[in-house]
Amino acid sequence: MTLDERARLLGLSCRDVVRGGCAWLTDSLVSTQHARKRLRRWIAAGRPAADPGGICIIGAGGSADVIQAAARRLPAPVLWHTCRNVITLLVGRELAGICSRLPALRRSHETPFIVAIDGGRDDAALQAVWAHETGHAWLSRAPSRALGRVTTLGEARSHEMVRAATPAAEWFNCAEAEERALDEWRVAALCQQWGFRGAAGDVTQYAADLRRVRALRAAHRRRHETDHQDRPARHADRAR
Ligand SMILES: [Zn+2]
Repeated sequence: MTLDERARLLGLSCRDVVRGGCAWLTDSLVSTQHARKRLRRWIAAGRPAADPGGICIIGAGGSADVIQAAARRLPAPVLWHTCRNVITLLVGRELAGICSRLPALRRSHETPFIVAIDGGRDDAALQAVWAHETGHAWLSRAPSRALGRVTTLGEARSHEMVRAATPAAEWFNCAEAEERALDEWRVAALCQQWGFRGAAGDVTQYAADLRRVRALRAAHRRRHETDHQDRPARHADRAR
């Protein structure tokens, strides 16, 4: 992103952008209309700084500081959005499970997101997974669609469908799968830019997944086109 584009997005002069060190404003950060909307909301609020201590965490106990340390690496608008609209739930460390009322996020702007983290990982992996899920909460639409309605890439991969790019079974929704894979790739890119390493920010892996889904979708489309081309010929045979 050029300096001019950064200045225009932030409503600042180029000189202020240089002075303010806005390197965090990347194409990946505003790669969806939802993220751009959230950035504009932050600007309209006067570009507030957010305190990592303001993140709503359930179940973290003594591990809250691990998540807060990760939060310090997020750009200000993402941290501000996270403090207001995201509830983090951590199990598998101090607690194996938890029953809790959801805290009211009184100053939330949208339906709160819940980010659930498996605590049975080392600190670095835990932070990367948290940053990855927080990236979803920044880039994605407000959660309305129930998870699990769509065949995920993980499920497709377990069937070796994507890897082999074999003709997909009808239950595999190519368009939704591509949307999902694109989401994952964008989030991984953000995660990497924020300095998190490991599987959660492995852009190469997610890019490969995206290519596989696109190849699968193209094969699906070709098969459909062939089916349509064949049909009139069969009709002609019958007429003879
Ligand atoms: Zn993800």
